Amino acid sequence: MSLSISHDYKSPNFNQREDMKLLDTIIIHYTGMKNYQSALEYLCNLNSKVSAHYFINEEGNIWQIVDDEMTAWHAGVSKWLDRKNLNSSSIGIELVNPGHEYGYKNFSLSQYQSLEQLIEILIKKYNIKQDRILGHSDIAPLRKSDPGEKFDWKRLSKKGLSIWPKEILNIPQNINSKNFLYNLLFEIGYDVENDFKSSLIAFKRHFIQSELTTDINETVIKVAYSVSMAFNKVRSLY
Ligand SMILES: [Zn+2]
Repeated sequence: MSLSISHDYKSPNFNQREDMKLLDTIIIHYTGMKNYQSALEYLCNLNSKVSAHYFINEEGNIWQIVDDEMTAWHAGVSKWLDRKNLNSSSIGIELVNPGHEYGYKNFSLSQYQSLEQLIEILIKKYNIKQDRILGHSDIAPLRKSDPGEKFDWKRLSKKGLSIWPKEILNIPQNINSKNFLYNLLFEIGYDVENDFKSSLIAFKRHFIQSELTTDINETVIKVAYSVSMAFNKVRSLY
């Protein structure tokens, strides 16, 4: 399998990784800008102070703008499980999409195909597990909503590149719904201690994409329970 990756653009916005062994996470973003050219230039502009490792446009062309061995500045203030500020332990991948601000649209088939091939290479190279392939909003729910509810996580899960519950499980009887849900989201990795409501919306953006309110109902709890079980299963294997 050969994947064509362009090195035409390089971003100055990075620093040396403390330790390559810490690298165990992939964070998926959208660019949230009007077109790919301006997004690519922005990420490569010293003044923007942001970057990512990879950039995939709608035609599925891939640029590597920061080397894997460097820490790119894509995650910002972030938390997942007990880890904060995920830049130093992650690879950031930007998908071109105008985002919620400029006309959010479906990601293209070419983007998915290139993204999936790229992730396959990265997980082999760095031994990255499925439960560490996340969206920006998963790790920064108060600030971020990318890659957003149009991103097809289920498609990635079919190729073993993300976690999606195989079935929706029934929940235990006599539970306090909100506490139970809080604990489930906490166990999955969301920063509920900082902000429960934004974590709930981030969870829905990823796993219940048609319903982005803060409503708590039986379906939400069942899906959260099923997702947490699926995460537990993957984590029990390593
Ligand atoms: Zn982002």
